[in-house]
Amino acid sequence: MTENSSADRAVAAFRETFGGEPAGVWAAPGRVNLIGEHTDYNAGLCLPIALPQRTYAAFRTREDGLLRMASTMGGGVVEVPLDDVAPGTPAGWSGYVAGVPWALRRAGFVVGGFDVVVHSDVPVGAGLSSSAALEGCVAAALSDVHELGLLADDAGRAILADACRAAENEIAGAPTGGLDQASSLRCKAGHALLLDFQDNSAVPVPFDLAAHGLALLVVDTRAPHALVDGQYASRRQACEEAAAILGVASLREVTDLDAALEALDDDVLRRRVRHVVTEIARVSEAITALKEEDFAWVGDLFNASHDSLRWDYEVTCPELDVTVEAARVAGALGARMTGGGFGGSAIALVRASEAEAVADAVRKAFAHHGFREPETFVVDASEGAARVD
Ligand code: ADP
Ligand code: MG
Repeated sequence: MTENSSADRAVAAFRETFGGEPAGVWAAPGRVNLIGEHTDYNAGLCLPIALPQRTYAAFRTREDGLLRMASTMGGGVVEVPLDDVAPGTPAGWSGYVAGVPWALRRAGFVVGGFDVVVHSDVPVGAGLSSSAALEGCVAAALSDVHELGLLADDAGRAILADACRAAENEIAGAPTGGLDQASSLRCKAGHALLLDFQDNSAVPVPFDLAAHGLALLVVDTRAPHALVDGQYASRRQACEEAAAILGVASLREVTDLDAALEALDDDVLRRRVRHVVTEIARVSEAITALKEEDFAWVGDLFNASHDSLRWDYEVTCPELDVTVEAARVAGALGARMTGGGFGGSAIALVRASEAEAVADAVRKAFAHHGFREPETFVVDASEGAARVD
């Protein structure tokens, strides 16, 4: 769907739901993380790009402090006074929306009530971060309508990203680590973003695959992933436990992996630590590989990342492993799961001329295994949240 038709859909639904006109439409993208998985909550490095798929918010302020929220996905209108927003209230999808003004207010910004209708091009629950896109478009709207000026530079966008993360963690109750919100707010078109969760810095890194005859193929496995939340939390807990045993504030501070592995006597903790420490190193290597335009090396790093997530971190699933294997066999330079895992999506670095053949090979492998047919599409590095109408 083109950007205009998506913005138009949000506006049409707004008129129908609330009457009158929105003040404008703001959009925020989903993301794929190129490499650096499960590192954000370890004060580590990530390297996401923003997707062309975005969530659109048709938005208008209200004077009475009420939040009225609707989605083109259905569920009717949710109404809650901003003053009543609290952990778990409102429950469900609107918590991601209502949490944003709640968090901005707590951070000291003056924001108020609104009417909003959202429409998303980002597949929901596919590990492509529709939740952060939902938060991001609301954050962008609030910044503009209340003249907070936070979209103007990366420092302001980092503040919005932090508010979105607080909304997701504290109001919606999803313990995600910050990668998704930073990607949606801070990414730049034509660039990947080197995110460092030690100092919250974000450095754009040129990422133009087309110029090298390459493409990034996304495979949404559509695998059901009911266990995600508990498993995600348990991985975080294992990292915290290991850091405590090792006497470091975060696993980012582990400089001698062999010594750390020796100091741990639990094999599971050892493998969790090995993933995090080697994955952070792979992000640094990927930056070098991209600078040297050595895409075979980038592909090797994708492969090593997936294998580490599969065997050491244990967050893949049959659909992700089959995707990656089929893509590799079909000629991808490298492939890996992206996002939290246990379902969701994978990415493959492919020659542009072979993208369709690799996608076909994945579809065939899914049919062979009796999996639901996956969605596949090629993406470019797109821009972060912005006003679009
Ligand atoms: P992901 O972020 O990978 O898509 P999550 O489980 O983190 O998966 O977020 C998905 C949730 O976000 C949905 O269950 C829903 O609550 C909410 N959501 C995202 N986009 C929309 C939308 N356009 N309309 C309503 N809810 C949405
Ligand atoms: Mg999410």
